[in-house]
Amino acid sequence: MSIVFKGGTVIDGAGTLPVSADVLISGQTIEGVGIFEVPPGTQVIDCRGLAVAPGFIDSHSHLDLQVLENHSDKLAQGVTTEVVGNCGFSPYPVPGDRKLLYDFANGLFCGSTDWGWPSAKAYLERAAQSPTTTVFSLVGHGSLRIARAGHQLGQLAECDLDWMEQKLAESFAEGACGFSTGLMYSPGASAPFSELERLCRVVARHQKVYATHMRGYGDFLIEAVDEQLRLARRTGCRLQISHFQAVGPRNWNKEALALEKIEKAAAEGLDVGFDCYPYIAGSTMLTQLLPQWALAGGIDGLLARLADGTERNRIATETEAALEQGWTNILIAALETPANQSLIGQSVAAIAASRGCEPVEVVFDLLKQEEGRVNMLEMNQSEANLRQTISHPLSCIISDGFYVKGRPHPRLYGTFPLLLGEMRRERRWLTLAEAVHKITEKPARRFSIPQRGRLERGYFADVVVFDPKTVNSPASYQSPSLQPNGICYVFRNGVALL
Ligand SMILES: [Zn+2]
Repeated sequence: MSIVFKGGTVIDGAGTLPVSADVLISGQTIEGVGIFEVPPGTQVIDCRGLAVAPGFIDSHSHLDLQVLENHSDKLAQGVTTEVVGNCGFSPYPVPGDRKLLYDFANGLFCGSTDWGWPSAKAYLERAAQSPTTTVFSLVGHGSLRIARAGHQLGQLAECDLDWMEQKLAESFAEGACGFSTGLMYSPGASAPFSELERLCRVVARHQKVYATHMRGYGDFLIEAVDEQLRLARRTGCRLQISHFQAVGPRNWNKEALALEKIEKAAAEGLDVGFDCYPYIAGSTMLTQLLPQWALAGGIDGLLARLADGTERNRIATETEAALEQGWTNILIAALETPANQSLIGQSVAAIAASRGCEPVEVVFDLLKQEEGRVNMLEMNQSEANLRQTISHPLSCIISDGFYVKGRPHPRLYGTFPLLLGEMRRERRWLTLAEAVHKITEKPARRFSIPQRGRLERGYFADVVVFDPKTVNSPASYQSPSLQPNGICYVFRNGVALL
């Protein structure tokens, strides 16, 4: 079955200037880009006035579980490929005691207790059946560590490190496309540099990518970037700094220096890049605000410490000192108990004021009532910094989206149309060709995704048709789950999905 996308403006993904042309596909493959005599029996899709681009690649997704189902929120944005396993969280290798992995990852995976795979191979085989998206997976450092050592913190025994190296190498051989760390999440956060160095050597040997949620993005942004660049220099691995940003007004001026370090490393020949989502707000689990030693032993360990007066005070003092964005900028996004549902959308500061208590006590109370399962939205960045990262030549654009049992961040529903609409057309932060490049060929190269991310003969027929005049996302922090405008057709492997 042949299809021709006729008369549109072709943006091929390579970052070159758009051209007026047709795109011909046959079966699951792109036959060519040019002006064609339409072969008989070919279906014609009229693309006059529309843009034709490669299917978008979300190279930082947390939908490790949802890509296995028929989820449509990414597809509605034009996404046909997702890279999961980010920030140290992958749904494999599953430990003997599965609860260890569920405690660690369910806040991001929005999962229950019915998932987990022994190996990359087992997960990828399942993911290959996804009806909506082509899945690539990173091995999560946190998951890997938990599979061997549970929630034990700090230096691991030599035999544990050997096991992790071997399991990582095995996962690469089975098709995992890289390795990720989440150095602000326990237990991965407790890993010494030497452990990361050993694992990054495995990454380099297999010519895969190392993506990192660094140790800090605010008070320790510079030190965190230095550490990751040192890792890349010493091991030779390809480095991708995940959701790069400067968190909190007191740290906004650090972004320029951090970027300078990254640029300098790239100019020296280091294979380094970064990614960012087109929103000033971030989102993750509420436990991330705590000192991560407080999570030794998992959620049970945390709740035991919060019940002890001295420990509780120490956790409170350290949490306050490390808070970079202020309590008015921390909003409750999701929790599970019915009695607390009215708190969704409120700031921790506002809840504390209405209760007449300290904000940190609100955090502790909620963590106790919800057994650790609370998600937050954090107003982190400045607009000026966001513009700088979005338009930077070393950046890819990602969603970092995940589902929650409450109100998710709008990036889950709007990242790609927002980039093409508001950021590109209205604010003029970048051109259409640049914007498309950052969500197609550029991430394909960074994450070693073959034959996708470009409209070129022989590539897979992943094609998005959108209206450059109307494409946008109405999703907001208050009403995130609104569908995008202006995405007209989405094809994956030559099959129309939208
Ligand atoms: Zn992250």
